[in-house]
Amino acid sequence: MSNQHQYEVVIVGGGGAGLMAALYASRGAKTAVLSKLYPTRSHTGAAQGGIGAALGNQEEDNTGWHTFDTVKGSDYLGDQDAIEFMCQEAIPVVYELEHMGLPFSRAADGRIAQRRFGGHTNNDTKQPVLRSCYAADRTGHMILQTLYQQCIKNEVTFYDEFQVLDLLVVNGSSAGVVAVELATGELHTFHAKSVIFATGGHGRVWEVTSNAYAYTGDGVAITLRKGIPAEDMEFFQFHPTGIFKLGILITEGVRGEGGVLLNNDGERFMERYAPTVKDLASRDVVSRSMYLEVRDGRGINGKNYMNLDVRPETVNKYAESDGRVLPDGTPYRVTGDDILEKLPDIIDFCRTYLGVDPLEQMMPVQPTAHYAMGGIPTNMAGEVLVDDKNTVMPGLYAAGEVACVSVHGANRLGTNSLLDLVVFGKQAGLRAAEFAQGSDFVSLPGDAESYTHQQIDQFMNGSGKEETADLAKEMKSIMMEHVGVFRTEEGMTQAREKIAELKERFKDVGLEDKGKVFNTEMLDAWELGCLLDVAEVTAVSAVARKESRGAHAREDFPKRDDDNWMKHTLAWMRDGKVDLGYKPVSVTKFEPQERVY
Ligand SMILES: Cc1cc2nc3c(=O)[nH]c(=O)nc-3n(C[C@H](O)[C@H](O)[C@H](O)COP(=O)(O)OP(=O)(O)OC[C@H]3O[C@@H](n4cnc5c(N)ncnc54)[C@H](O)[C@@H]3O)c2cc1C
Repeated sequence: MSNQHQYEVVIVGGGGAGLMAALYASRGAKTAVLSKLYPTRSHTGAAQGGIGAALGNQEEDNTGWHTFDTVKGSDYLGDQDAIEFMCQEAIPVVYELEHMGLPFSRAADGRIAQRRFGGHTNNDTKQPVLRSCYAADRTGHMILQTLYQQCIKNEVTFYDEFQVLDLLVVNGSSAGVVAVELATGELHTFHAKSVIFATGGHGRVWEVTSNAYAYTGDGVAITLRKGIPAEDMEFFQFHPTGIFKLGILITEGVRGEGGVLLNNDGERFMERYAPTVKDLASRDVVSRSMYLEVRDGRGINGKNYMNLDVRPETVNKYAESDGRVLPDGTPYRVTGDDILEKLPDIIDFCRTYLGVDPLEQMMPVQPTAHYAMGGIPTNMAGEVLVDDKNTVMPGLYAAGEVACVSVHGANRLGTNSLLDLVVFGKQAGLRAAEFAQGSDFVSLPGDAESYTHQQIDQFMNGSGKEETADLAKEMKSIMMEHVGVFRTEEGMTQAREKIAELKERFKDVGLEDKGKVFNTEMLDAWELGCLLDVAEVTAVSAVARKESRGAHAREDFPKRDDDNWMKHTLAWMRDGKVDLGYKPVSVTKFEPQERVY
């Protein structure tokens, strides 16, 4: 039948991780990429600030420092072997991207330019270090375009606007996926030896988010439904600088270039919370500080936001008081043109969406739901792990934001996600092709599409008493309020109960559009189902963790508790309930210390 396809490697997702995996898999196996979006519309294209690598192009740096900063940033929950591997691979992979033609911004001597970013430091002086390699503030866009061109050159087959709704598992092995073709509503079965999930994150669980509309947690939800656990889901990063109310991201690069956060008194409050690195502390620290400022009545005009100031005179004033100098020892000073050259899109976003010109005015910002540290458990080879003994599911891989290796632990450092995509996307692609070369196709059952039909029929025949948009709104609001920057037992329990109620009501969602062609109403409903599963697992994992670590900050347990909680959470969905288990963190070199910035 025409809707049956066979590839050795099938990759779900055409973002940075999916395309890097495709590039490597396609060198050794017949490879297809399925993507619900046209690949270059993937969220990777929105990444602004840069990709971290200790090139040391403009000042001293090394992979050891990058490794330690990442471990410390992760609040000691990251697996240190994986972190070390990623930081070492960072240097060759950035040069590989450069050689593919990625138009990085350049230093005066022609080498790749680097900028400061939160949590990245010179370990000797403890001062911020120039480590983020960038292409103005369009780094992700450039990575995505470059990788897409390479995939086309390598004759990877693309199925654009194909949304995967199910993973086929036969006798404990992955055997393919079922997808709906958006243009026709037809189902397609892709039989594969290896399947790689690279479906991105799930920030749409929260009301204020920097994430694309497509960030609905499809990969985590699909695999949860197949008995695969989700790891460390309680750790979700709130980026300090989203545009007030809109959530649209203002890159940390703004602070890297010298911008500062100010409260209603015009005070640079980060000096109090992080005296050494100030505005460039790690994101969890800055978001919490902003929240505390608002709570103590220092929000701008009594509202829950702060000002981000990158006006040249402000940058120069604080650069002078910080004694910031350029690598050649001359004082760091900027002009409006310098800012415009390094942050063109940010200036443009603010002018367009806010009517604010950042060269003349301050930007109103608040923490915005940004990045999933948790996800599908994998090892360093991208292989998916199904239990606390790290047992591999044959033929199944995950990479990128959907995966939890775990290199980000309880809190990711800026620039380390783009790095994670290319480093582990490559590993997953290589291993998936290698596995495909050494194995046969697992035969598919005759009713491979039955679960998918069942899912679609549920909406087609639903009573229509409930509307997807209403349920989504209630979910986002309760998760924002109670499973956000600060958390308590009581609040999280309320959220958990509310999500359970919404899941019941979700059964009564119906559709007005019963058609097949671009039935986005059906897909919105299906995606809400994913978000509800992800929200539930997040809330249950979060209530259970009785400590504060990284992005998981509890008012009722304000301290990190290494004796009891230095372990990864695993959450399974079994018979409609969430079961939790735990597994140890891999510690190689760095014993946990208190985090001071
Ligand atoms: C605004 C913003 C700025 C950022 N800036 C930076 C930065 O400067 N540096 C940094 O390191 N990180 C940054 N990040 C984080 C980083 O960009 C993301 O974590 C990363 O790009 C995710 O890449 P990915 O390949 O995992 O997913 P994506 O690029 O989102 O790709 C996911 C793919 O999966 C497909 N897909 C999803 N579900 C399905 C399905 N059911 N069926 C078929 N296809 C599916 C989509 O079509 C898409 O192609 C930023 C994130 C945001 C939101």
